Amino acid sequence: MTRRLSLDEVLRMFARIGFDPRSHSGTHELRCPACSHLRRKKTHKCLSIRCDADGFFFRCFHCDEFHGSYR
Ligand SMILES: [Zn+2]
Repeated sequence: MTRRLSLDEVLRMFARIGFDPRSHSGTHELRCPACSHLRRKKTHKCLSIRCDADGFFFRCFHCDEFHGSYR
């Protein structure tokens, strides 16, 4: 299940890790703004984001909190 978000919401979520999905394309692995700082493996890149011409899709493999899409 994927949450549909506005562009503004997506940018605000990613601002916490200084990532602007508008300036990237393809698939990226990042630290998760919601859970990485709480974990022992703080630098583990558990968040996957795909950026393409249609929008963004992202999901954290560790927490259920950080996921969504913008189309
Ligand atoms: Zn997470």
